[in-house]
Amino acid sequence: MENTFKKGGISVQTEHIFPVIKKWLYSEKDIFLREIVSNASDAVTKLKRLASLGQYDDGGETYRIDVILDKAAKTLTVSDNGIGMTAEELDRYICQIALSGALEFVEKYEGENKNNGIIGHFGLGFYSSFMVSDTVELITKSYTDAPAVHWTCNTDGNYETAEGERESHGTTVIMHISDEENAYLEKYKIEEILDKYCAFMPVEIYFTAEGDEEEKKEDTKDEKEPEPPKPINDTTPLWLKNPSDCTPEEYKEFYRKVFHDWREPLFWIHVNADYPLNFRGILYFPKITNEYESIEGQVKLYYNQVFVADNIKEVIPEYLLMLKGVLDCPELPLNVSRSYLQNNTYVAKVSAHIVKKVADKLNSLCNTAREEYEKVWNDIRTFVEYACMRDRKFYDRVKDSLLIELTDGKFVTTADYLEAAKEKHENIVYYTSDKAAQAQYISMFEAQNIAVAVFEKQLHTQFLSMIESYNSDVKYVRIDADVAGALKSDETAVEDKALSELFVKVSGNEKLKVSFSALKDESVPVLLTISEESRRMEEMMKMYAMSGMNMGMSSFPTEATLTVNTASPLIAKLGTLDDEKQEKTAAYLYELALLSQRKLTAEELQKFLADSYSVLDLI
Ligand code: ADP
Repeated sequence: MENTFKKGGISVQTEHIFPVIKKWLYSEKDIFLREIVSNASDAVTKLKRLASLGQYDDGGETYRIDVILDKAAKTLTVSDNGIGMTAEELDRYICQIALSGALEFVEKYEGENKNNGIIGHFGLGFYSSFMVSDTVELITKSYTDAPAVHWTCNTDGNYETAEGERESHGTTVIMHISDEENAYLEKYKIEEILDKYCAFMPVEIYFTAEGDEEEKKEDTKDEKEPEPPKPINDTTPLWLKNPSDCTPEEYKEFYRKVFHDWREPLFWIHVNADYPLNFRGILYFPKITNEYESIEGQVKLYYNQVFVADNIKEVIPEYLLMLKGVLDCPELPLNVSRSYLQNNTYVAKVSAHIVKKVADKLNSLCNTAREEYEKVWNDIRTFVEYACMRDRKFYDRVKDSLLIELTDGKFVTTADYLEAAKEKHENIVYYTSDKAAQAQYISMFEAQNIAVAVFEKQLHTQFLSMIESYNSDVKYVRIDADVAGALKSDETAVEDKALSELFVKVSGNEKLKVSFSALKDESVPVLLTISEESRRMEEMMKMYAMSGMNMGMSSFPTEATLTVNTASPLIAKLGTLDDEKQEKTAAYLYELALLSQRKLTAEELQKFLADSYSVLDLI
C-alpha cells in the first residue's frame, strides 16, 4: 500500500482483544459470516431508506451482496453495494465504536459459560471476522462523493488506512483465512453457514466459489445459455406476509424447505403481532408417525430475518419446542444472557402471546373444524396433554377442546361424555389402559351401553391425575377399579361367609376383600378389581423404583377386591359341590379372574396350568 495516509495501532487497552476474539466461542465460530453479511445487509437497507426518503437517487439500481470464496488465494470476500463509509466514518465506526463494542462484549461475557451465556452470540460484530482471519481488508466507498478507503488490519491490532480503489459505493470485506481455520475455505462449509444464518436476509445474496468456473465451462459445452445465477436466500419469507394472503400450499412448501420434512404438517399458526409486541412467526404441528419417535421439534429464532439460534426456551415455553417453526423477534434484546431473558417482561409477553395463539388454534379447530380436529387428535394428543401438564394456564385455555377417544373409535369431549352418561353414572369417566388385557371388562361395560375411554400410554394416566387435581368434580376410573353401579342388577345379593373365606384361602392373599353382588351379566362368575387410588399409588412406586428411588414399595400392598356374582349359575353350583371340588373350582375361578384382569406372572401361569389339568380331572 503506497500512499498510506494513516497508520494506527489499536489502542493499548485493546492489545489483548485479538487473541481473545480468536479463541472466542470456539463452537460458534461460524457466526462471523453472519455478522459480516448482516452488516452488508444493513448497509444496503440504510441506502435504500435514504433513497426512499428522496435523499439519494439510486436510479433503480439492484442491490445485492456477493460472497466470494477463493480457495487458492485463501480469502473469503463479502461485498455489498450499500451505503459505504467515508474515511472519517470508517475511523469512527470500525476503529472506535465497533472495536469498543467488541471489547465490551468480550469483557462482559468472557467469564460466562460459553454454551450458556449469551444467546445467538450476537454483538461481536465486525471484529468476529478475526476469529477466522489473520488479516482483514475493508475497501469502502461512501454513497457521497468522498473517495474510497482501503483499510487493512492484522491480528496484532495494527492497521493501515490508504486510498482505496473502488468505483462505486459500497463495502468489500476481504478475510484472509488463517491456516488453522482453513475449513472455512471449503465451499460446502460456506454454503452450510449461509443456508443456516442467511437464508431469509432481506437483501439478495449470491455465492461464488472461484475455481468453480472451470466446471461451469465444461457444463455449458452444449451451447446452452448458462442459467442466470440465483440468490441463495429468500428475501421475503412467508412469515412477513399477511396470513390472509398465504395459501396452504405456500405454508407446506415453506415447511418442507425450512425443516426438510417431507411429511405434511398437520396444521399451522401464523402469528402476526403488531405494536407493542411486534413479532412474527409460523408454528407448525408436525406429523408424528409412530409413538416411539421422540417428539423433538425445532423452533428457529430470527432477528430481523437473521437467524439467531434454535430452540431458545426462554422465548418459547419448553413444551412448545415440540412444534416446528420460525419466530422473528426484532424487539428481542439479543445481546444478553439467558438469565436476563428469563426475567425480561417483553420476552414473557411474547411467550404468553404464543401460548394463547396455540390454544386459540386448538379451540377454533375443535369448534369449527371438528372432523379435521378428530383426524389429527391422536397425532397432537401427546403434545397437548404434555403442554397441559406443564402449564396450568394452557390447560385452562384448552380444557374444553380436549378429546377423549372411545373404544369404538369415536371422539368426545369430557363434557359430551358426562352428558351422555349422566343417566347411568355421574361425573365419572371410565377408561381402559389396555384394550386387549381388559377386554372382558370392556365387553361388560359395552353391554350396558357405558362408553369406555382409551388412555393407554403412561403419559395419559399421569395426565388424568393432573386433570383431577385441577378439577375435583370429575373422576377418572379404570374399568377394573370397581364394579360400576350400572353393571349391577336390582337383585339384592346375599353374602356367603364360608365362600368368602374359601376365596381368601385359595387366593393366598389374606388381604383379599370378597364382596357379593348380583351382576346383569350372568356369564361372569367372579370379577377382580383394584381400587383406582391403590393402583395409581402402585404405578407411581414402580416409576420411582425404575428411576432408582426406593420408596419402600412393599409397604403399599395393592388392595384387590373379588366380586362374587350371585347371579351366576356357576356360583350357585359352587355351593352344592363337595369340599374338595369346591376348593379346586374356587381356586380355578380366582385364577380366571386374575387372568382377565392382568397378565399372569410366570409362577402364576404355571399354577394356573396345573390347576386347569386338575379341574379337567374332575370330569
Ligand atoms: P453493529 O453492526 O452491531 O453496529 P459492527 O461491529 O458489526 O457492529 O459494525 C460497526 C459499524 O460499522 C456498523 O454500525 C456500521 O456503521 C459500520 N459498518 C460495518 N460494516 C459495514 C458495511 N458493510 N457497510 C457500511 N458500514 C458498515
